[in-house]
Amino acid sequence: MTALPELPAAFEERLRVIVPPAHLAEALASFTRPRPLTVRVNTLRADPGAVAAELTALGLTVLPLPWCPEALHLPDGDRRVLTESAPVCDGRAYVQGQSSLLATLALDPRPGEENLDLAAAPGGKTLHIAARMADRGRLAAIEPIRGRFFRLKANIARAGATIVALYQKDGRAVGGAVPDRFDRVLLDAPCSSEARFTRLDPASWAHWSPRKVAEAAKKQRGLLASALTALRPGGRLVYCTCSFAPEENERVVSDALARRPEVDVVPWQAPIAPTQPGLVRWDGRELDPRLVRAVRVLPNAERDGFFVCVLTKAAASARDA
Ligand code: SAM
Repeated sequence: MTALPELPAAFEERLRVIVPPAHLAEALASFTRPRPLTVRVNTLRADPGAVAAELTALGLTVLPLPWCPEALHLPDGDRRVLTESAPVCDGRAYVQGQSSLLATLALDPRPGEENLDLAAAPGGKTLHIAARMADRGRLAAIEPIRGRFFRLKANIARAGATIVALYQKDGRAVGGAVPDRFDRVLLDAPCSSEARFTRLDPASWAHWSPRKVAEAAKKQRGLLASALTALRPGGRLVYCTCSFAPEENERVVSDALARRPEVDVVPWQAPIAPTQPGLVRWDGRELDPRLVRAVRVLPNAERDGFFVCVLTKAAASARDA
């Protein structure tokens, strides 16, 4: 049996500093396993029980996910059988990792609201938000990259969500155009995708380097400034990434907090374990202590790593977007 390729040494060294020692072995082992499979049933068009029965009939083992009733967990499931199944192909179900589901749970959208998804393609979270809003209200979804925009559009049409208004735009321009507007804003930021690395496919880290992390962080700062400006006072904003890099997570939020006294970090309790609190110091620099309320989802056999930080803002708005 040939040995699996090693993760980039610089990445693994950083991970050893970031992840608490008690969870390190499990986190490192997660990079050698096939991706865990979860589907979210599109409750606008289907019932989770009926979809579970249909997938079970295809020979898949289907388990409920107690903390997200519209999702189904398929341990050791065959990805191809799932992606080619009728519920996935006709928009009644969407293959979506557990960490990705957490973003919408943290956002907690309600029917009738006006909400914004600032980095939306291919649309898994947009559609989860629309379903939790029971397709009532309005949901603006932004994606600047043409190919990804059209994939998002197709996914929304297939799912039958009618409240989504799509914009092919740079998210950094949105806050200035519509300040203080949205009840809830999701910023699932474009990132270095470190949590998607897998030793089963070295192409997963082909584009990674410390310089790429710095480039991602620069864009994330601009997007978070825009997202905060677009949020209405008293609204709720979720900033999340699938990166472990503190430069893309706590530092981006810490710098926004330093510039905007009206913004605060809202405590959020993740319904899963293991997690760790957000870091409050990195690379010799103290960060805003409120980052301890952010959540780092640690990777294991069931889910990928993820960073989630819930923010709100008070009335006075510094218009820096
Ligand atoms: N939320 C999506 C989902 O759950 O399906 C995944 C979003 S992905 C992490 C980040 C997205 O941000 C990518 O589709 C990327 O093309 C988009 N993006 C890149 N630059 C952007 C910008 N300046 N403004 C808004 N979105 C951007």
